[in-house]
Amino acid sequence: MPKAIWVVGGGLAGAEAAWQAANAGYDVILYEMRPERMTPAHTTPLLGELVCSNSLKANNLENASGLLKEELRRLGSLLMTVAEETKVPAGGALAVDRQRFAAGITARISEHPRIKVVRTEISSIPSDQPAVVATGPLTSPLLSAWLQQLFGEEYFYFFDAVAPIVTRESLDFKRIFAASRYGRGEAEYLNCPMNEEEYTLFWENLTAAEVHQSHLGAAEKRFFEGCMPVEVLAARGKDTLRYGPLKPVGLTDPATGKRPYAVVQLRPENREKTLYNMVGFQTNLRWGEQKRVFRMIPGLAEAEFVRYGVMHRNSFINTPKLLTNALQWKGGWPLFFAGQLIGVEGYVESIAAGLLAGKNIVRFLEGKAPLVFPRETAMGALFHHIINAEIRHFQPMNINFGLFPPLKVKIKEKLKKNRAIAERALNSLENYLRNEEK
Ligand SMILES: Cc1cc2nc3c(=O)[nH]c(=O)nc-3n(C[C@H](O)[C@H](O)[C@H](O)COP(=O)(O)OP(=O)(O)OC[C@H]3O[C@@H](n4cnc5c(N)ncnc54)[C@H](O)[C@@H]3O)c2cc1C
Repeated sequence: MPKAIWVVGGGLAGAEAAWQAANAGYDVILYEMRPERMTPAHTTPLLGELVCSNSLKANNLENASGLLKEELRRLGSLLMTVAEETKVPAGGALAVDRQRFAAGITARISEHPRIKVVRTEISSIPSDQPAVVATGPLTSPLLSAWLQQLFGEEYFYFFDAVAPIVTRESLDFKRIFAASRYGRGEAEYLNCPMNEEEYTLFWENLTAAEVHQSHLGAAEKRFFEGCMPVEVLAARGKDTLRYGPLKPVGLTDPATGKRPYAVVQLRPENREKTLYNMVGFQTNLRWGEQKRVFRMIPGLAEAEFVRYGVMHRNSFINTPKLLTNALQWKGGWPLFFAGQLIGVEGYVESIAAGLLAGKNIVRFLEGKAPLVFPRETAMGALFHHIINAEIRHFQPMNINFGLFPPLKVKIKEKLKKNRAIAERALNSLENYLRNEEK
């Protein structure tokens, strides 16, 4: 008789993982600490509670999140089924009645003959116990301490201080030049040069822009002192940014042959260089304000932001360092991870990670090769990025078209291009599943 699989955390990822493993014929014990111990964001004892918005984002295939949802449906996701049953009108988005959604998940999981739900906080996992850890961005302090010990402190993070990420194809290369400071090494960075007038206008708008009210506690505020929001730095004086992240030293604009007045640098976010991170632009500005103000930077007038800057509490592990592409810990025992804890960002991405970990733990126990989806699919693109991201700069990521391999033929119109990527993804998924069945 095989050991029951533990799933720790009954949120979006944990509920999906438990369902997948139980449906494959395994006994599952799902540990959820609520209501015995609540997180700072959850308010009910329900499994699969949505902590904030009731929207699971766009539902159409021309949107990467819509495509990921469609793939999850085809892969038999419980949470997508319940979302469909509890949806409310929301235009092109899939929004749900949050109470009915979480109650529906709780009922399906509790009634499953192979799943036992145990309401207790887990502080450690016995070695050799097959488990999926899906305790989310607000993992309890006890389990966080255990994970820190298991992995080493430097591979477990409590906070996110993320700069916006833009797609390469949305940049205006007539205004931008590639160069590294003083010509050292490869010209990895893209540079957006500003003259004095452009800088002044940008600075005025940045310092007047609207920010999110900070929910940070004293400990978080101390942490963020070493990682100042760009608007706070700007507020210290007109030239502070020019002597900080926007310093132009060691850079010559080929268009003028001169050193610019200020420079915004963009660093590649992935190996394929389809996505770029705005260096030093961690921020608390409202998302609409980020778009408005950062588009004033030369070369970014049409920038597509696949991820806005945020600064918030978020527990996550250094997945590229710690996990295999099956979402299993490299340390040996059948310990799998899922959800926002592995550095995916967002409801649907967390569900996707739960589905993958739930299926792969079963395959591991059965001695089968893990599911590793083709990179052309949304599942493949997202998890390939998370597993292969640069260890040193690892930051959470949501699904977006910048993560997919480029199409063989160039399509200019965005909607058509996205549709073609989605079509390729769904064909690729079907082929992969057909081969899996053989
Ligand atoms: C405040 C906040 C707002 C967010 N808003 C959005 C949004 O609007 N849209 C969006 O797409 N994403 C949002 N996110 C990001 C993310 O998508 C969600 O947090 C999502 O719920 C993550 O899914 P998960 O399964 O990884 O974690 P969760 O859904 O948080 O589930 C983790 C579960 O583990 C339990 N748990 C924790 N520690 C233990 C333990 N030691 N033992 C047993 N159980 C434990 C928790 O009680 C919880 O039920 C938000 C995140 C936060 C923190």
